[in-house]
Formats: sequence, structure tokens, C-alpha cells
Amino acid sequence: MKQEIYKYYKSVLDETHLADAHAHLAPEAEWHSGHSDITDIFLYCLPDLISAGMSRDDLHLPTEGVPAFHASFGEPYRPDTRSNLEKWQVMKPYWPFVRKMGSGVHARRVMKLFFGAEDLTDETVEIFEKKLPDWKKTSYKELFSAYKIDRVMNVSLGGSRSNPPTDILEQQLYTDQFTQPVSRDTPYLLEKLTGIPIYSLDTYMEALDQFLESEVREGGMKGFKLHLTSFNRELKFDLVDKFDAEKALDKIFTSIPRGSLGSAFGHSYNEMRPLHDYLQNHLLGKAVELNVPVQIHTGTFGSSMGFNLPNSNPTLLTDTILRYPRVKFDLLHCGWPYARELGEMARSMDNVWINTTWLQILSPVAYKQFMKEWLLQIPINKIFGFGSDELNPLSTCACADVYRELCAQVFAELVEDNLLSEKEALFMIQRISKDNVYDHWNLKN
Ligand SMILES: [Zn+2]
Repeated sequence: MKQEIYKYYKSVLDETHLADAHAHLAPEAEWHSGHSDITDIFLYCLPDLISAGMSRDDLHLPTEGVPAFHASFGEPYRPDTRSNLEKWQVMKPYWPFVRKMGSGVHARRVMKLFFGAEDLTDETVEIFEKKLPDWKKTSYKELFSAYKIDRVMNVSLGGSRSNPPTDILEQQLYTDQFTQPVSRDTPYLLEKLTGIPIYSLDTYMEALDQFLESEVREGGMKGFKLHLTSFNRELKFDLVDKFDAEKALDKIFTSIPRGSLGSAFGHSYNEMRPLHDYLQNHLLGKAVELNVPVQIHTGTFGSSMGFNLPNSNPTLLTDTILRYPRVKFDLLHCGWPYARELGEMARSMDNVWINTTWLQILSPVAYKQFMKEWLLQIPINKIFGFGSDELNPLSTCACADVYRELCAQVFAELVEDNLLSEKEALFMIQRISKDNVYDHWNLKN
């Protein structure tokens, strides 16, 4: 690649405004006042460090203790009060094995951009400790403006009541807790949210509908996010007999009442499958009615350690996608490692979009290779090129910084190989960096 061409596209990308197609940022007040430490910056390094030999017992993940993720470590959650330096000592022996991986590149980029440090060492972790409180006073708007991130498509775990939209965070409603009940907690929560008494499948649906409608129409939720299915079973939603769904729900109703000893035990995910399939199909119909897109986790399992990878293959969704031609399916993480399958799905199905979020962290080289392939393979308005999938704003900005470099390399190589003209490249950069997100979710500038 000729350096002048790269430098030209890097300068274009430096001036290009971005829209982040997927993130998990906390409400801003929590960013300012909540606990943050080095494990937030290391989020995606942690499973890689464990894969490299670090003991799971020595350092817990930031997703532990978040109720919506149902992440159990086999013992009650206790906040880890060790200092940044103590946590770093746990990671340090394995860091040389991970620092050049995508996750390591992104963690080091945070250290460089915000803490003036080239790498993680005992000294630079101390600088991190000293400077972090100042960064936590900085608003999302200030941070994102500096990196020309105009809008973030966030996932709101609790909906508008706990993480409402702001002028920079657009929110998608995390729907799993309502479509995948395993215990009385879910009907109880829905009753509280809607005031509708729930004692049958019909009343459950009435409450669910009211909740979804108010979250979209009054709460400002811009879409639905489906997440946990493939972590537990194959990613497909069969059509089921309503009576089978009702019988499964009845097992929840006839469990011992809340507050009783043993009432926290839930039913198995498999046992509830007819109910879950019924509710997921209903949710997709509701997405048509409310005219909102649906974002689905496909492919690799993030900070999970050990899982059934084929359960997450996006091709398992084929029947569901065909059944709902008017639902706009945004499939996350390039379906990695099933990226080639997802590419062909997005090319041949008019209701499938590729969301590249997280591939630049999982494998920067794969990100470049697949972007080059897709830019010339599928309609350019169906690729979301930038997404951070991060839980804190510093990492989101670092992702934007790495994105601009990788993307400049991609376009420099395509232009140099005479596969794109400069004019075509500039058009594509604008589409994949920002405009596709604005069109897909109907956002106003
Ligand atoms: Zn995510």
C-alpha cells in the first residue's frame, strides 16, 4: 500500500463524522458517579487473558452482577474492591500473550489516547489510576465530539425508565427479559410496569404489548435488541402451538409464590422453549407494527468462556427472516466466524443488514479482509462499518480511532488495486461510517 494513498484516506476519515451502530453505555450519571477501573478498559482482553491461562477465579468480569446478563460465577456476586494495581498484577503474566491481539490493541489505544501511555506497565497503571477520576468528570458529549461521534445506537437494558435516550445516545430496548421468562419474576415485573394483572398467556401478551408500545411511542426506544438465545440454544424461532406456549407459562404461574423459600429457582430454558418461541415471534410482529428495526446478536459469545458456537450461526435465522419480510434485521458482529455466510445473506435478502460491530476488536485483519470483500459484494447501504460494543466512553473513542486507521487501509488498498475510484470510495466512507445508521434507524441530524 502506498503511504500517500493511505494518508489521504486517513485524513478523509479523520474528518468524517461517525455513528456507532452498537454500544452498551450506562446512563451518563452512572459514568460520572459509578465505579470504573482497569477491568472496564480491559473488558475484551479478559476472556483472551483467561484463554491464555489466567485463572477465572482470580479476576471477575465487569458483566458479573448485571442482572440482565444472568452471568453466574457459581458463587454470590461480591464487588471486587482491589486496586487497579492489584488487578493489573493478576493480568500481567499473561499480558505479553494478548497485547498484540485486537483486544490488546484497543486497550492500549485507550491508554495512549487518554493516559499518554504506550503500554501497560506498573508505572502506566498508576497514571491510569491518577487520571481516571478527571476523565470521569467529562461528559459523553465532550468525549464524543472530540472524536466526531455524532450518535451512538445504545442498548438500554432497563428501557426508558433506567436508560432513556439523550441527544447523543439513541436507545434500543433489550427485550430478552420479557420474551424469555423462566420464573415468576418476569410476569411480576410486567405487571408492575403496566398495571395489568397477568394470569394467562393472553393477559401476559396484553401487558407485553402495552409495555412495548409505550417504550417505543413514549419512551423513544428506536428498536429491539435480541441477545441471549444463542448462548443457550440454536438461534431459531419456530412457530409453535399457542396451547404449548400457554402450558409452559402455566408452569411459571404454578411455581411457588414469590418470597417463598426456593422461589428464586427458575425453569429450564429448554422447558420454556415453546413459550420463548411464541413470544419472540410475537415480538417480531410487533416490530412490524411499530415500524422499528430488530438487532440480533449472532456469532461469537463475547466474554463467555466455552460455548456452543454453531448455535449462533446467523443462517439458523433464515426461516425467521423469511417469515417477516418487513422486519429490518440488523445482525451483529458479522456473525463471526460465520461472516461469509452473513455476507451472502445480506446480499440476497433485502431485510438483512451486516453490523460489523466488534469484529475490529476480535480480529483487525479479518475486519479489513471482510470489509474489502463486502464493499464490493453487497449493497453499500446495508453495511454498518463502525460499532464499538463498548461499556465505557473512553473505549468507544478508542474504537473510533482504530476504525479510522483500519478503514483508511481498506479504502487505500481498494483504490490502489483499481477496484474503486476516489469518488466511489468517498461515497462509501460516508455511507458505512454514518449515513447507513441514520437511514436504518430513521435518525434526524
Ligand atoms: Zn453488544
